[in-house]
Amino acid sequence: VAKTTHAGVRVYTSDDDRNSPRRLAMVADLREAIQRHDIVVVFQPKIETATGLVVGAEALARWHHPAHGFVPPDEFIPLAEHSGLIRPLTLHVLEVSLRRCATWRRMGHDIHVAVNLSPNSLQESDLPDIVARLLGQTGVPASALTLEITESSIMADPTGAMVILDRLHALGVKLAIDDFGTGYSSLGRLRELPIHEMKIDRSFVQRIAVDHRDRAVVRSAVQLGHALDLMVVAEGVEDEHTLLHLRQEGCNLVQGFFISKPLPADDFADWLTARIP
Ligand code: C2E
Ligand code: CA
Ligand code: CA
Ligand code: CA
Repeated sequence: VAKTTHAGVRVYTSDDDRNSPRRLAMVADLREAIQRHDIVVVFQPKIETATGLVVGAEALARWHHPAHGFVPPDEFIPLAEHSGLIRPLTLHVLEVSLRRCATWRRMGHDIHVAVNLSPNSLQESDLPDIVARLLGQTGVPASALTLEITESSIMADPTGAMVILDRLHALGVKLAIDDFGTGYSSLGRLRELPIHEMKIDRSFVQRIAVDHRDRAVVRSAVQLGHALDLMVVAEGVEDEHTLLHLRQEGCNLVQGFFISKPLPADDFADWLTARIP
C-alpha cells in the first residue's frame, strides 16, 4: 500500500510492501551483515555540563551496505524490528560496546557506555540474564552500563516491561528514558520506573538559544527530572550558545555535534586521551 503525502509523493511506510523483492533483499543483506559482524558501532561522547568532564558514550549502530552505501539507522533499525533481526543486532551492539568500554576502562578512563534498546527487547524475558553474562565476560561493572529505552517501548506492554526493567535495575544496570517529550507516557508511570536518567529529545533542545518557548519547555523538563531524582541529559547540542543555556538551566549532561560527532571506537579512545588536562 502506498500512502500519498500532501506533496503528492508516494512514500512507503515500514509496514507496507513487506514482501517486495527489494525489501526482502535488504532483509537478507542485513541478516548477513549482522552475522558477519559488518554492523559497526560508533560512539558519541556524553559530557558533564558544568565541568566538561567526559562521563561516557552512547553506542550507535552503522551499516555500510556493499551496493547501496551508508544506510541510516532510522531505516535499518525498523527493518530489523520488523524482520526478527533486532535481537541479534542488539546483542551484537551490546557485546561490542561492552568490550570497548572494558578497554577504555583498562586504559584508566572511568567511563560508562549507553546502548539503545528496541521495544521488542523489553518483551524478551532472558535479556537480564544475557546482560549479566556479557558484563561478567567483559568485566565491565553493571553501573557502567546504561540501557536507553523510549516511553513508547514501555507503553506497548507496561506490565511485562516493568518485570524486565526491575531485573535489570536489580543487576545494577542504569536505565535512561530516551527522546523524552516525544512520547505520551503518563507522569505517574515515569515516577514508577526504576530509571536513572532522562534524555530530553533534541527537537526541544536545538532552538533554546533563539526561542524562549523551547527554553521554557527544556526548563520544565529539567525541573521535572530533578524532582524525580534523575540525571538530565540534553541531546543534539550543536553550538556553544545552546550549551551555555543548558548549563544555566542546570541540565546535568550534554551530547551533540558541538562536543563531538559519533566516532569510531579507536578515534573515541584518542579523543578521550587528548581531552585529559
Ligand atoms: P537516538 O537514540 O535518539 O540517537 C541520537 C541520534 O542523534 C543519533 O542519530 C546521533 O547521531 C544524532 N545526533 C547526535 N548529536 C546530534 C546533533 O548535535 N545534531 C543532530 N542533528 N543529531 C545528532 P543516528 O546515529 O542516526 O541514530 C538514529 C536513531 O537510530 C537513534 O536515535 C536510535 O533511535 C536508533 N539507533 C541507532 N543505533 C541503534 C542501536 O544500536 N539499537 C537501536 N535499537 N536503535 C539504534
Ligand atoms: Ca539514544
Ligand atoms: Ca535520543
Ligand atoms: Ca531519536
